[in-house]
Amino acid sequence: MGRIAVLDENMVNMIAAGEVIERPASVVKELLENSIDAGAMKIIISVEDGGRKLISVTDNGEGVAGEDLAGAFEPHATSKIKIHSDLGHISTMGFRGEALASIASVAQVRAVSRTKDALSAHNIEIDCGKKTESAPCSGDYGTTIEVRNLFYKLPARRKFLRTANTEMTHIIEHFTRIALAHCNLDMTLIHNGREIYRLLDGQSRTERIAKLFSAQIAESLLVVESSEKGLEISGLLGRPDAARANNKFQYFFLNSRFIRDKFISHAIKEAYRGVIEPSKYPVVFLFMQMPCEAYDVNVHPTKIEVRFDNSNLVHSQILAVIRQKLLGQNLDAPAQMPQPRESMAPKEETIQHSEIRRQRIAEAMAEFFREHRPVQTQQQLGFAHPSARPGQVEAAEHIAPVETGQRAEVSRNFLQLHDSYIVSQVDDGFIVVDQHALHERIIYEDLCRRIAANTAEKLTSQKLLIPETTEITDAQAEALRTNSGFFEKLGIELEPFGPKTIAIQAFPSLLAKVAPAEFVQELLDLLNEKAVKLDKERLLHEVLEMTACKAAIKAGRKLSDDEIEGLLAGREVIDRASQCPHGRPTTIKFSLSELERQFKRK
Ligand code: ADP
Ligand code: MG
Repeated sequence: MGRIAVLDENMVNMIAAGEVIERPASVVKELLENSIDAGAMKIIISVEDGGRKLISVTDNGEGVAGEDLAGAFEPHATSKIKIHSDLGHISTMGFRGEALASIASVAQVRAVSRTKDALSAHNIEIDCGKKTESAPCSGDYGTTIEVRNLFYKLPARRKFLRTANTEMTHIIEHFTRIALAHCNLDMTLIHNGREIYRLLDGQSRTERIAKLFSAQIAESLLVVESSEKGLEISGLLGRPDAARANNKFQYFFLNSRFIRDKFISHAIKEAYRGVIEPSKYPVVFLFMQMPCEAYDVNVHPTKIEVRFDNSNLVHSQILAVIRQKLLGQNLDAPAQMPQPRESMAPKEETIQHSEIRRQRIAEAMAEFFREHRPVQTQQQLGFAHPSARPGQVEAAEHIAPVETGQRAEVSRNFLQLHDSYIVSQVDDGFIVVDQHALHERIIYEDLCRRIAANTAEKLTSQKLLIPETTEITDAQAEALRTNSGFFEKLGIELEPFGPKTIAIQAFPSLLAKVAPAEFVQELLDLLNEKAVKLDKERLLHEVLEMTACKAAIKAGRKLSDDEIEGLLAGREVIDRASQCPHGRPTTIKFSLSELERQFKRK
């Protein structure tokens, strides 16, 4: 006899189950999707022992007729597609007809269902593929499916199930995805008899986010909407300070189906580039609608991936709508204040301590008022630093000049602390600015405007009286050959000076305080390392980021009142002022209302 045999049906189902049913959460997902496809408005999910003992889903959908009940558990049994062309425009959550058959091949299942016009409900039981006859029974309109002891005949798979808590985390994740995409559904999740979530129908997305995540996340979200070329996007964006260490707070939905997609992830990363640190992930909830003919959903067993006909459109529209929103926002990070404590009665030793502190503060305040005279001159904004070389205007020229009229609006209420931070009063509180980070952003935005935007413009440079020479490696020489355009743009003139040496003839005025050879070396290393990974535009931005960082005033430098005013005024006029080009905050805001709360004034 030949060695090849056709597998029996139950075996086929068990193998299919391996693809779609990985753990209790997969069962929850499939049953919820079926309830939604059946038009349910209310769904109750009850789970025991993280779903290992029981998963029960009850809905008030259209139900399954008695004569169809057994058939629903057959492999490839579906009421959702019939002919080949249906595959091209799938609008239901399911269509492959394999979920119920797969689940029933690896667990004990009982289904009770009743359609609107049926005289009674019908039920059926299936134990790892072995069915009973469907029979009439009492029951409400709609469907209940109970799944017990998942994988109980498959010890190898059962032992991969984790603790009830871990399995519950996965179940909650699927519940969350469905709940966010279907705010019109009344949904309840119960674990071991305890209600975990009760979500009423008609809640807004933000209300659902507050329930499923936290009110804090929900309150700070920025709303975006866009509609172009058949793609409608509606998004809720986390502010940069809410960014996370992983992408668990990114939810993308396409026609109410949760999906993962590398183009969308990339567009989001690009849109937030420069306002969050590169290693962080923004919180983003993105809801997209497009005709179902414009993508293929039949590319993944659990349908978590789709294939867009025009992924460029998806990418560019998401990137544009998010970037535009972020540009137009004040994204200052709110100060992280401790929660006020209830009991404020100080202990004996802290009373002594605070007495000393009070004295110190009084002395410091007196000192401050002696020192902090009003600004003397208002004309020095393109100032030259005393240590700058003759003819070279220092980096602070990039601090935006302040018109006399505007100047009155910059509150002279500022103060430089530790030669690094500027505290300044604003309408509804005060801000603390990191002088280096803000100046870096101001210079970077200016550089982008002047030389990044496809212009032939280059930075003004100064001829060095004595050219500076530096030795370069072969790899650096290669980086120089292929990227000489960047050096030109920056106004750095280089000449060969021996086999492995170059001479720096001219250097940008902007970098007056930077050692030319050191900068050129660092720039060559950057190009050498990044040129293979990045396209020309990204690479140019990296170069500009590095240039801005080197040119910006450093922490630890005392600033004149004019310089501080210029910095604060610059903050008002540039884009993305709240973060430095690397995505770290430039500004932290203390709001009056939070201060009042902390000082128990209200
Ligand atoms: P699919 O969802 O891909 O069609 P399933 O195996 O999940 O395949 O379900 C098979 C069929 O059983 C569905 O097409 C539907 O007709 C019926 N069905 C399953 N669950 C429900 C439910 N909760 N209410 C009504 N009909 C259901
Ligand atoms: Mg289904």
